[in-house]
Amino acid sequence: MVHFTCDLCGKDITSSGEDRFVVKMEAFPGFDPNEIKEEDLEDDPMEAVSDMIQRDEAFGPLDHESADDACRRKGFRFDLCPSCHGKFLRDPLGKSHANVFDFSKN
Ligand SMILES: [Zn+2]
Repeated sequence: MVHFTCDLCGKDITSSGEDRFVVKMEAFPGFDPNEIKEEDLEDDPMEAVSDMIQRDEAFGPLDHESADDACRRKGFRFDLCPSCHGKFLRDPLGKSHANVFDFSKN
């Protein structure tokens, strides 16, 4: 039997019989839409964007940079209990914690 614990509070979700919520996040370097030139937009704009992304990859990192690139592209997956899931939905980036930290410094 697969065993799940909440990644935030450590609560055993499996034995508590509560619902389990999975949160997936991905972080990667964005590209600037303003860099798309007019000639790229002659055809289907979505196609131009995907062309650009493919071109981007073609001129992508050199071999010695691939590890760095992997570091810049991160995927996260969390198992959360219902109460932590509720907290996550209210504050996905933990901004309230950041504010508390700022105030405590003053
Ligand atoms: Zn939890």
